[in-house]
Amino acid sequence: MAFASGAAAAQIRNVALDIRAVSHHYDLDGQKLDVLDGIELSVKPGEFVALLGPSGSGKSTLLRLAAGLEHPSAGKLLEDGAQIGKPDPSHILVFQDPTLFPWRTVWRNVATGLEARGLLAQHRHRVDEALALVKLEKFANAYPHQLSGGMAQRVAIARALVNDPQLLLLDEPFGKLDSLTRLSMQNELLALWRKVGFTALLVTHDVEEAILLANRVIVLSDRPARIIAEVAVDKPHPRRRDDPDLVELRRSVLATLGISQDV
Ligand code: ADP
Ligand code: MG
Repeated sequence: MAFASGAAAAQIRNVALDIRAVSHHYDLDGQKLDVLDGIELSVKPGEFVALLGPSGSGKSTLLRLAAGLEHPSAGKLLEDGAQIGKPDPSHILVFQDPTLFPWRTVWRNVATGLEARGLLAQHRHRVDEALALVKLEKFANAYPHQLSGGMAQRVAIARALVNDPQLLLLDEPFGKLDSLTRLSMQNELLALWRKVGFTALLVTHDVEEAILLANRVIVLSDRPARIIAEVAVDKPHPRRRDDPDLVELRRSVLATLGISQDV
């Protein structure tokens, strides 16, 4: 359970995620609500995949299934070939709202997972390392109300990283941040991914974000979600937002979503 940081990052910890013929429905007031329809997706170890789709299409549902928070109505989700059964610190979900404990300091918030698993006493340094990775060492003793939205989201990411995730599931993590903070958080997330090497599945409604960060962009239909397009982004990082190839990819992904760029 080494925590990968700095030179230790040579020990890459990541997994393959296989989503096989996954369909899901909810029961809503006795009515069946079909949400996912035959999703097939394999994410390679260390790959960064972005999921795009209309609001309400079932993206968060898919992430909750991958996190083991819910079980699919049909099909299977596998982590390195083993069925994902229950929530586990190795596959962590980061939400749009950071939901920090307001009465705990930043340090204590990040320590929550280790504490819950009885590992904090031996691994206090990992909390410090995770805070350093998101550049919040100086705010270890601050309380959530003393943080900006971007800082709070960085605490949430540090709280995920401290558990040494092999699969990081991100549900529109920057959706509520102002655009400048979002740009810098995108860079930070990318730097962390390159350093730590986790497998990443990012839900976003920001086409540019998907194309800038991911190795592959998956486009989902309206509910019940099916995969309607898959776009490989064969460009090394760092990428430029104004790279003509990426601008063209953005245009074609938007067209897949039925959105014209003309206003
Ligand atoms: P997205 O993240 O793409 O916006 P969600 O996965 O959150 O979509 O939701 C997909 C659909 O499932 C929505 O219509 C939503 O209302 C419904 N839904 C989500 N969670 C539940 C639930 N626990 N019970 C019933 N319906 C749900
Ligand atoms: Mg959602």
